[in-house]
Amino acid sequence: MLVAIHNNERVFATEGGVGYCPECHESLIPACGDIYIHHWRHKPESICTYGAGETTWHRRMKSLFPIECVEVRHGVNRSDVLLQNGTAIEFQNSSISITDIKTRRMSVDRMIWMFNLEKQADRDQLSVDGNMFWYNRPKEIFHLCMPHLFWYCSDEMILKVNYMNDDIVYDNVTGYNKKITEGRCEKITLTEFVERAMKYDEQFKQPEKPPEIVQLKLFNINPQHD
Ligand SMILES: [Zn+2]
Repeated sequence: MLVAIHNNERVFATEGGVGYCPECHESLIPACGDIYIHHWRHKPESICTYGAGETTWHRRMKSLFPIECVEVRHGVNRSDVLLQNGTAIEFQNSSISITDIKTRRMSVDRMIWMFNLEKQADRDQLSVDGNMFWYNRPKEIFHLCMPHLFWYCSDEMILKVNYMNDDIVYDNVTGYNKKITEGRCEKITLTEFVERAMKYDEQFKQPEKPPEIVQLKLFNINPQHD
């Protein structure tokens, strides 16, 4: 976790700092290495699971926002980021269930989802040409996160998915049909993502015009099977 409580204030971890878990109220240990994002962790004997299993990527994304917005509880959920304008941001590094997505979405007005697809982009499972993308490991889950769906590929390339469609295509290499997701996106940087999120505006809203249907060509898709 990034944020602990001390004297009723929200505090980031600092060398020798004091902080208590917002869930179990136990005293925490500040983890302040040179490489990783500073964070808090429970003492080894603690049985509290809050903050456990968090990845460096997850912590790094949260650390880009002001402390008052990070790890904010609302109702039964705690959002990674909850902006002053009522928009919650969830960063997903691992898989999440459809039920989880629906539950989290119910408690806030607007939700922005960012999934880490860095590995998929590296392995060419996700390819981009202009504002078109092809993803050869389609997931039903992504459709639930529209229209505020972002895919993290690198700090320089975050895709805002504006339109997506699942399709069955014939794979010349393997001779089998396979399912892919294709669609339109906008490429932005991580810095731009944070700037936009902080001033949630028209850019995050779904386009009012129906998406243009285009004939897609297959591009750089490697045979992959789940
Ligand atoms: Zn705890």
